[in-house]
Parts: sequence; C-alpha cells; structure tokens
Amino acid sequence: MSPFHYAHEALVADGVPLADIAAEVGTPCYVYAASTMRERIRAFRQAFRGGPEPLFCYAVKANSNLAVIRLFAQEGAGADTVSGGEIARALAAGVAPSRIVYAGIAKTDEEIRFALQTGILQFNVESTQELLRIAEIAAGMGKTAPVALRINPDVAAGTHDKISTGRKHDKFGIPWDEAGEVFALAQRLEGIEPLGLHLHIGSQITRLEPFEAAYRRAVDLFVALRTAGVPLRRLDLGGGFGVPYKDEPRVEAEAFADLVRRLTRGLDVELVFEPGRSLVAEAGVILSQVIYLKEAGGRRFLVLDSGMNVLIRPAMYGAYHAVLPVREPRPDEELVPMDVVGPICESSDVLGRDRLLPLLRPGDLVAITGAGAYGSVMASHYNSRPSAAEVLVERGRFAVIKPHLPPERQFADERIPDWLGGSGKD
Ligand SMILES: *Cc1c(COP(=O)(O)O)cnc(C)c1O
Repeated sequence: MSPFHYAHEALVADGVPLADIAAEVGTPCYVYAASTMRERIRAFRQAFRGGPEPLFCYAVKANSNLAVIRLFAQEGAGADTVSGGEIARALAAGVAPSRIVYAGIAKTDEEIRFALQTGILQFNVESTQELLRIAEIAAGMGKTAPVALRINPDVAAGTHDKISTGRKHDKFGIPWDEAGEVFALAQRLEGIEPLGLHLHIGSQITRLEPFEAAYRRAVDLFVALRTAGVPLRRLDLGGGFGVPYKDEPRVEAEAFADLVRRLTRGLDVELVFEPGRSLVAEAGVILSQVIYLKEAGGRRFLVLDSGMNVLIRPAMYGAYHAVLPVREPRPDEELVPMDVVGPICESSDVLGRDRLLPLLRPGDLVAITGAGAYGSVMASHYNSRPSAAEVLVERGRFAVIKPHLPPERQFADERIPDWLGGSGKD
C-alpha cells in the first residue's frame, strides 16, 4: 500500500498530514516515506533468500540525500556510485568502502586516486583508455584496483530513448565483441585485478525480457571468459527496474529473482545489483502550493510554486507524474481539466496536461507523486527560486533532511572581480 493516502479528507504520509509538513517546513518540499524505501529493498533481499545473498548497491544518483543513503545502508545495502562526489556522499552516510562500486565513463585521475585510497569494492570500467589510466595510477600508488569491465550487450531496453544505455551506439561500456581482448589486456596489467563483469542496460525497464536478453549474454560471456582463464568471480547486473508512474507494470522482485536464479544456476558467482529508481521513486512526493488558477486561450492553468526546477522529468523525458490535491475532493465535487504548470520562464515547464482536479484556490496544496527518484538530484537554481527542502517521514514523525536554500545562499559564493568594482577577494 502507498504510504501516501487520504485519511479524514486529507493526504497523509506514513501517518503525518502533509498539510502539517507544509505549515512547518514551507513549500515546495520533497517528502520521502521511509516505509516504502524499506519495503522495496526488503522485497529484493527477501526474493533471493535461501541462496547466496547478492549485494544490493543502492544507485546513489537516484536520490543522494545522506539520510536516504543511510537508511539503505541500515537495510544492508551498499552504494553504486558514478563520481568521486557520490563516493564521498556514500562514505559520509556511513557506507563501508567494501560495499561501494564505482561506474561512470569519465573517471578523472583525481577520482581514481580517491577511490583507490578509499579502498572501494570495485571499479566498473567503461573503456580501454580508462583501464590503462587506472592501471598506471594504481601501480604508482603500489595498489591493485579490483576491476569489473562494463560490457555493452547491445540490447534495446524497451524504455525511453534518453534512458537506454545498453545499445551499441550508446556511450556506455566496452563493445561486446572487444570484451575478450580487453580482459586479456587487464590480466597483463600491473595494478589491475580483473574479477568481474558488469552491465547496466537502462532505466525504467518495465518488462523482464530485456533483462533476460542482456543477462543471458552476460552469463555466456562470463563462462567463456572463465574457460579462457580469466578468474572472474563477480557478476554485477546493474539496475534499471521500472516502477508504475501511471499504469506501467512493476518489475516484481520475486519474478526477477526467479529469472536470475534460472540464468545463473550452477555458476559459482557473487551477484551484485544496482537498483536506484525502484527503491525510491514511489517513496517521494513534492508538496507544492497553488499560486494562481489562471485562464487563458481557452485553457485553465494551475500555476504552482514548483516546476521543472524541482522536477525536470516531465520536461526532459515527457514523463508522467500524478498530481493529487492534499485536501481530498468531496465525492460530489466537480473536477475540471487543467494544465498543471510551474513558475519557470520556459514553455516546457509543464508538469501535466489536462489533469482532472477540483477548482483549487491560491494557497491550496497539491502533491506530485513518484518524485522520490531523479527529483531533488536533478533540481536546479534556474530562475533563482528558493530550492526545495527535503523531509523524511517515518511512523508518524518527520525530520527536515535538507533545508530550503534561499537565493541569498545560492549566490553567496559568487564574486564580482575588482575591475567591475568588486573587492575581487574572498
Ligand atoms: C543509473 C544507474 C543505475 C540505477 O538505475 P535505476 O534505473 O535508477 O535503477 C545503476 N547502475 C548504473 C551504472 C547507473 O548508471
């Protein structure tokens, strides 16, 4: 059951009325329900019970607030990171280095050094160039980098073009037919211990077939490489599990675990998964306030205090997010179609078209659902609006896990050079 539901004609989150949070914290703010996050990670772990336990590395980029990372660490998860900044966040949140994996196509020397010093579980290497760079840096530090090669399996994930990563023209990973060669190189390099195979084919994948196609290829390659003498012991199968934003099917943990067990039967291997979205998307809403109900050009616009600056997914991917009034509409209340729009000076700042909503008034509250993943992490200061606070709710209590950042704080570090009449100094 969703933690967000109506009780006594008001929308509540894990037992806390959203209107109370708005009154205390202000709007817009993200509200995350801890119960949903716990439920999701537990479902994955539970689905694999009875066999060797896979390592679930929470993909930090989906929602990288320290409190969220800490919650998953508490639930036994590690962290999947794509930058030095994300490794630093994972460490700050209390994730053990031995449970951190690190992907990303643009690892810099500085980031590589930091990851080696930290002693992370595994580098997921995306190119020969990167492999050579890691080898050189590791050897120079007298260290050995544990490496999985990220292979591009050339499968279509059947998801939105902008979130597909496993087709051959995508920028991610090492081409399938070069894998043997690059592993052979990795085995010869000082400073590198090649121990795994990695793939991640995209995001918001709602059917099992693309996973099956990619995983099958990965297992075949894994076996072939082992036969060829590469001592592989870990298979990192990425994330990408879809969630219902509207009426899409969910990738069910049990069915997924069955598939993985079937494909990896008899293979002596450590499994790693990197779920991001599926653990947090449905745990979050954006609590927003109506500024105006405007009529123009024969349309009705519900103008909110939050838009693409707080949730860019509709503008960027044409994504659907439901908009719920915080005060429950009466059964006989008239619902009228309206376009829900944000405050940003861009025509693409539309959260939803033709949504059936009651005739709300300025000051009324709405909740934009499915905003726990790729919401706050993709927020911007565009238009210098106050950035949204983040709130975590659990069993009737709530805490601000990131306060609003007012515009004065956003430009506090900017400097006017002395030739423009500024002091030029810090
Ligand atoms: C983004 C990403 C993930 C998580 O994807 P979700 O769709 O959020 O589950 C996992 N692994 C890698 C390498 C990624 O880049």
